[in-house]
Amino acid sequence: MAKRLILMGPPGGGKGTQAKRIQERHGVPQLSTGDMLRAAVAAGSDLGREAKAVMEAGKLVSDQLIVAMIAERITNADCAKGFILDGFPRTVPQAEALDKLLKSKGLKLDAVIEVQVPDERLIERITGRFTCAKCGEGYHDLFKKPKKAGVCDVCGGTVFNRRADDNVETVKSRLTTYHDQTAPLLPYYERQGLLRVVDGDRDMDVITADLEAILGT
Ligand code: AMP
Repeated sequence: MAKRLILMGPPGGGKGTQAKRIQERHGVPQLSTGDMLRAAVAAGSDLGREAKAVMEAGKLVSDQLIVAMIAERITNADCAKGFILDGFPRTVPQAEALDKLLKSKGLKLDAVIEVQVPDERLIERITGRFTCAKCGEGYHDLFKKPKKAGVCDVCGGTVFNRRADDNVETVKSRLTTYHDQTAPLLPYYERQGLLRVVDGDRDMDVITADLEAILGT
């Protein structure tokens, strides 16, 4: 069965980690609009220049730019068996554009999964996170330190990155943006009978097991 999924939830709620696990297990790509934008910023492209300040303010990049980016990405051959949307859609107009896009290709979403985490847990989770610059493995100052300080457990890399928008001030703005603009998508998908909810305030492996139960084999 094709797997066309949306992982929804607040910033720092663990969508990215879980999307990577689904990608590995089911062979469908994680499409993270945040990762695409960060790559554009790093490359210094026109899109990157436009997005940088908006991202650092914890606001949203324009629907038009984002929808065009996704429309192009899902025509790639690797999306033939499905995809996991991570961080998209983030507004009702983006969701409507996605519906239209899929309909024009004769495709449908299989599920929209909300990973729920209370706000008070998110600031601590986001401000402590960092990743290996070489292999992308994720770590956390409190919850998941490398076994040997300063050395990546997976690849031995010694350079780590922190996102420019993972500071307390921007995180507060990202949370407000989420509640104001993205949370209204939950009833939108509930009305379509697609919404499933998972408690994201638990051990990562337990959450993965819940997601697997929803996805099946
Ligand atoms: P994320 O990595 O998903 O937390 O996204 C990081 C930042 O990129 C967000 O705070 C937004 O500024 C921007 N962004 C990512 N996805 C979208 C989207 N679907 N619509 C608008 N802005 C986005």
